[in-house]
Amino acid sequence: MTRTDGTAGAAAPAGERGGAPDAFDLLVVGSANADLVVRVERRPGAGETVLGSDLAVHPGGKGANQAVAAARLGARTALLARVGDDAHGRLLLQAQRAAGVAVDGVLTGGAPTGVALITVDPSGDNSIVVSPGANALLTPGDIRSAARLVRAARVVSAQLEIPLATVVETVRVLGGAGRFVLNPSPAGPLPAEVLTACDPLVVNEHEARVLLGDGAGPDPAGWARSLLALGPRSVVVTLGAAGALTADGRTGVVERVAAPRVSAVDTTGAGDAFTAALAWRLGRGEEPAAAARYAARVGAAAVTRPGAQEAYPVPAQLPPPA
Ligand code: ADP
Repeated sequence: MTRTDGTAGAAAPAGERGGAPDAFDLLVVGSANADLVVRVERRPGAGETVLGSDLAVHPGGKGANQAVAAARLGARTALLARVGDDAHGRLLLQAQRAAGVAVDGVLTGGAPTGVALITVDPSGDNSIVVSPGANALLTPGDIRSAARLVRAARVVSAQLEIPLATVVETVRVLGGAGRFVLNPSPAGPLPAEVLTACDPLVVNEHEARVLLGDGAGPDPAGWARSLLALGPRSVVVTLGAAGALTADGRTGVVERVAAPRVSAVDTTGAGDAFTAALAWRLGRGEEPAAAARYAARVGAAAVTRPGAQEAYPVPAQLPPPA
């Protein structure tokens, strides 16, 4: 059965879906982290020790988040990542499998699973230290070894929590066989080879400002146009509760997509859910604005519950379009 409408059975294990095992709607090449969260009355300063709540461990990392988000919507999804041979790695794999993500491409060992050490104060402000661990060992050679998987996917989605050289190799191996979507987070300089492959480059406000530097004016539509000038085939700028903008490199047309009004509880991972949904729908041939409208419903649903992966919706949980 090839699922085309994303409306049913989102949690079926990938192996039960039939079809060619390596023909995925979406391949996510990216990070997998365990998020270790402690609530504190006050975040500690230098040299200071504070007592906090019991430790909570959540599956996270931008790559793992995107894969879970897409699979829960019904996309045939695979993850190419690296985790440690440890309890955090097993937790992450279990979360992927439970969502229906194919994890044959997840490599194990070489370093501990990546972790994000997160302290959150009562106002919701947080401090985060990321230890990349095994994510830093996902190499260009790993991508070459998975070339069949990469080239068979309709869409390949990447972020920057793995080495940049690995993202560059993903673009090379893909060679235009499928669509390439990049969320450049954490934001930093990108080689032209990567920028020109993006269709789209997906950025939030912070990432847009970093990529544009002093050239970022006050107006998000202006950011979208300036980002297009850097070379991607298309651009999507996400604007939190204000929705998103799509910009087409061929026509220069910028379209605004509103976000459904929801009561936000926790915005962690909203961008990952949005990007995964967008990538999947674009791969199905939807127009950018239509795909972004759908992705905005997914992002909105994701903020209505605490956590990232745990908060991601199945289609029945999506709010109506704005
Ligand atoms: P990031 O999580 O990367 O910072 P954004 O905050 O821009 O990215 O969120 C990504 C998308 O999720 C937005 O474009 C929007 O569609 C949706 N979203 C985020 N916050 C809200 C919100 N408070 N209400 C409705 N939708 C939201």
